[in-house]
Amino acid sequence: MRTPATHAQDGLPAEVTIWEVGPRDGLQNESALVPTETKAAFVQRLVAAGLPIVEATSFVHPRWVPQLADAGDLLTALAAHDALGDAAHDLPVLVPNDRGLDRALELGCRHVAIFGSATETFAQRNLNRGHAEQFAMFAPTVERARAAGMRVRGYLSMCFGDPWEGEVALDRVVDTGVRLLEMGCDSLSLGDTIGVGTPGHVRALLAAFETAGVGADRLAVHFHDTYGQALANALAALEAGITTFDASAGGLGGCPYAESATGNLATEDLVWMLDGLGVRTGVDLDALVDTSRWMAGELGRPSVSRVVQARA
Ligand code: MG
Repeated sequence: MRTPATHAQDGLPAEVTIWEVGPRDGLQNESALVPTETKAAFVQRLVAAGLPIVEATSFVHPRWVPQLADAGDLLTALAAHDALGDAAHDLPVLVPNDRGLDRALELGCRHVAIFGSATETFAQRNLNRGHAEQFAMFAPTVERARAAGMRVRGYLSMCFGDPWEGEVALDRVVDTGVRLLEMGCDSLSLGDTIGVGTPGHVRALLAAFETAGVGADRLAVHFHDTYGQALANALAALEAGITTFDASAGGLGGCPYAESATGNLATEDLVWMLDGLGVRTGVDLDALVDTSRWMAGELGRPSVSRVVQARA
């Protein structure tokens, strides 16, 4: 079978947005440097496959993520390409701090993301400051981005568990997320960075946000499949009204902090489920699978996506 049979389920959104993170979140964990032209082709193919939002890269310091040291060159290449042109400036880019934002502004980007932490230890390790101090770091960045008319997404990591601290309390996640939204982020992506979440946990966290006045329309979910729960969690979020889902083509990427992390939810696997539920994504599954198969060839190892494997 090339596509699943469709059986719609009552109460689900008619359509959802898939926020493709493969070129940024996926590739950032690749140790072998991927040429800029390959990345540009990857982004273009994902856009052509119908992914409505493709996060292109990160303006993180090259010392931390050498793979994305070509962020400026990549954006310039994308903007120069006929298929994208000015639309390249709408592709989200991660800006870890004010200097990252400077570069995004110089290049004409209109959509940025910051990367916060729900936990103290991950804030220390990833942001080099405490959980409480991250807000002071992000505030001027978000304010300047908003003043420049940019859309700003807030990523929130370790929402379902932390490799050093273990369980993370729901109110801790909600309080952190609310502060990022109040700061000026227009949406929040809740990350299960180490993939330990389960569907009941997803429902509980989304309900806690609802109680705090943050509806599903301002939230996205970002699941990792470390323990095989990513699709089940995505379905739980869908049933709770979430309409933006992060996913990575071919399941590229992982978390360097999680033992044997199997990485991001594969976009193909998510699309297969949504197609079967009759929830529109706008994604051409054939074109997406072709893209991931091509990228796997470039990286020299097979895709971990079950759909890509099944259709080989
Ligand atoms: Mg991820």
